[in-house]
Amino acid sequence: MTDTKFENVINFGAGPAKLPLEVLKDVQKELLGYRDTKISILELSHRSNDFNNVINSAQATLRDILNVPENYHILFMQGGGTGIFAAIPLNILKTGTADYIVTGSWSAKAAKEAAKFGKVNMVLPKTSKYTEIPDPSTWKLDPNASYVYYCENETVHGIEFDFIPETNGVPLVADMSSNILSKPFDVSKFAVIFAGAQKNIGPAGVTLVIVRDDMLGYPMDVCPTVLNFTVMANDNSLHNTPPVFQIYVVGLVFEWIKRNGGPEGMQNFAKKKSNKIYDVIDNSGGFYVCPIKRNARSRMNVPFRINDGDEKLEKEFLLGAVARGMLQLKGHRSVGGIRASLYNAITEEEAEALADYMKWFHNEHTNNLENN
Ligand SMILES: *Cc1c(COP(=O)(O)O)cnc(C)c1O
Repeated sequence: MTDTKFENVINFGAGPAKLPLEVLKDVQKELLGYRDTKISILELSHRSNDFNNVINSAQATLRDILNVPENYHILFMQGGGTGIFAAIPLNILKTGTADYIVTGSWSAKAAKEAAKFGKVNMVLPKTSKYTEIPDPSTWKLDPNASYVYYCENETVHGIEFDFIPETNGVPLVADMSSNILSKPFDVSKFAVIFAGAQKNIGPAGVTLVIVRDDMLGYPMDVCPTVLNFTVMANDNSLHNTPPVFQIYVVGLVFEWIKRNGGPEGMQNFAKKKSNKIYDVIDNSGGFYVCPIKRNARSRMNVPFRINDGDEKLEKEFLLGAVARGMLQLKGHRSVGGIRASLYNAITEEEAEALADYMKWFHNEHTNNLENN
C-alpha cells in the first residue's frame, strides 16, 4: 500500500523536490535503527564514530563523482542557500567590491544581501524581466572585484548557464542550488560552489559548500561563526550540531547518483527529459510558449505559458495534471504560468508522461476551438 502513493504520483515541485524512491526506501528501512547503532539516525550523536563515517563517506563519494581536487574543502552548512548569500561576502569580500551577474531572482537576492557588507558591481544592466544571459562581451566586470558571483540555474525563471564565465583570474563563485550534480564540470574553475540540498541532492536543511583552500582565512570580524567557512573547514562542519539526518540523506543521494552513471549519467537524463518538454512546446505552434532564449533554457526548470498567458486555461491544465497525479506544476507566483522541475530524481518516463499530457491537452483545445 505504501508504495502505491509513489507509483501513482509524480512530484514536479521546484523544491523541496522529489527524492529517488530507492533513497526514500533506504531511509525508511534504516530509520528506526541505523545500521549497527540500534538507534535512529535522528537520535545519533554528531560526535559519534558512526556519524563521522556518515559525513566522511558523503564527502568522499562527492569528491569521487565530481572530481573535487584535494585543495577544496567540502562543507555542510545551515541557513539554506540564502544563508550562503550572506556567507560569501562575509568570508571572501577582501577588496570591498564584488561582481554580481544577475540573471534572475536568486542572483538578485544574493546581490542585495552582499550589498549589506560591501560594494556590489552589477555586471549586467538592470532588468525586471529575466529571459536571457546577455553575451559575455557586454559584461562590465570590475578588475578589482574580490570575486565574480553568478547563479548557474535560475530556478524561478528557468535560465541556465551552459558555459563557465571567464573572469580573468578573479575568483568565481557559483550558486548551483538547482542544478548541482546534473552535469559534469571542472570544479577547479571555481573558488566557491554552493547548493541548498532541497532541489537536487536531498531534503531541506543542509547546504553544500565546496570551497577552495585559498578562500579560507579571510572572514570579516563580524562574520557569524555558523557562516564562517574557515571555522567550518577546520572543524569538518562539526563546529556546532550539524543537520545529522540531512547529511545522511545527501550521502545516500550521492551514492544513488554514482550508481546511476554519476554526473555524466544525470546529464544524459537531464537532456532527454527536458528535450521532451521543450519539443512539445516548440511543436505546439505557439499554444505553449517558453519565454527564455534558447541558449539559456534550463534543463532543470521548464517554465511555460499557455495560449498567451490564458490564466483560465492554465488553471484547467493544472487541475487536469493533478487529476493525473502530476503535482506541483504551478509556476512561481512572480512569473505565473506553469513550471516543470525535472531534477535528477525525475525519471524519463515521468517526463514523458508530462509531455504526453501536454500534447493531449493541446489537441483537446484545438478540437474545442474548431468545434465552437
Ligand atoms: C531555492 C534556491 C535558493 C534558496 O535556497 P533556500 O535554502 O530556500 O535559502 C538559492 N538559490 C537557488 C538557485 C535556489 O533555487
